Amino acid sequence: MNFSLTQLEEARRALDVPLFADLPGDAGVSFEFFPPNSEKMAETLWHTVEVLAPLAPRFASVTYGAGGSTRERTHATVARIVRETKVPAAAHLTCVNASRAEIAEVANAYWDVGVRHIVALRGDPPAGETFVPHPEGYAGAADLVEGLKVLHPFEISVAAYPEVHPQALSPQADLDNLKAKLEAGATRAITQFFFAPETFFRFRDKAAAAGINAEIVPGILPVSNVAQTRKFAGMCGAAIPAWMERLFDGLDDNPPARQLVAATIAAELARKLYAGGVRHFHFYTLNRAELSFAICHLLGIRAEK
Ligand SMILES: Cc1cc2nc3c(=O)[nH]c(=O)nc-3n(C[C@H](O)[C@H](O)[C@H](O)COP(=O)(O)OP(=O)(O)OC[C@H]3O[C@@H](n4cnc5c(N)ncnc54)[C@H](O)[C@@H]3O)c2cc1C
Repeated sequence: MNFSLTQLEEARRALDVPLFADLPGDAGVSFEFFPPNSEKMAETLWHTVEVLAPLAPRFASVTYGAGGSTRERTHATVARIVRETKVPAAAHLTCVNASRAEIAEVANAYWDVGVRHIVALRGDPPAGETFVPHPEGYAGAADLVEGLKVLHPFEISVAAYPEVHPQALSPQADLDNLKAKLEAGATRAITQFFFAPETFFRFRDKAAAAGINAEIVPGILPVSNVAQTRKFAGMCGAAIPAWMERLFDGLDDNPPARQLVAATIAAELARKLYAGGVRHFHFYTLNRAELSFAICHLLGIRAEK
């Protein structure tokens, strides 16, 4: 039987996975939050930030609601992270429904409060519509990166899609677009979530073959609610594998067991990614601390004393 080099490399990686007990905690992490829209959600978020901040993340980022709908709340959340923690804050910013002048206003306000890192995105139009650039706005994320770099020397992260963006003309076009975003001045790409380590490794190999040298950081979504994740996944081109559905089968009314299963699945993924050389993990926390903290702990990462 003939194996391709990629298959052999994948088999090697699958066998060469260290035990959790052997992980030295040398990986960096970052955490993604969304801006809260009630007092209660704000309390949950700040508790989460207090639990995760001592892990000394490389940065904490805050998302920007569809169509700029959370402009003020995103700003307030990012500004509070800057004021009240030592964690470098990153603000997500999108092109949807905004002129270049409006985006400049938002970016300047970030710069003025000390934010030096932007996650630059095209953004999504409201459900069911296709993206049409604002007549005086940016055509997409690559354009936005270029515009932000003219304004201030921001550190910029961009999005990448191991399972290909649903609107991409082809996988190659998607990679070309990623390359354009990095060439426009972004320093790293953060991926959409995925559930099989091979998905990430194949993507990283293809990116390297396309001449992309920048760091590609896997986005880890610890899933404890499959129904909700299925909804997100449908929108962003990520697939929920049948084995994951099976592992959560029968647990609808058992949240504690779901949490344990979720932590196990995500920690296994992180461990295999670590074995494949990943040293920066970006967690989609959904504003909850428990799962991301537990996975960091299993990776050997401990709170700063
Ligand atoms: C880490 C991460 C964080 C995110 N945070 C947010 C957030 O805070 N708020 C939010 O609203 N959304 C967020 N998103 C979702 C993102 O906005 C959507 O996936 C959006 O559809 C694409 O944004 P992008 O920056 O990847 O777009 P782009 O890189 O501009 O590309 C979008 C698609 O269009 C294609 N394309 C680009 N240029 C061209 C061209 N010239 N011709 C033809 N096709 C082209 C690309 O190949 C790609 O398929 C996030 C996604 C990730 C992975």
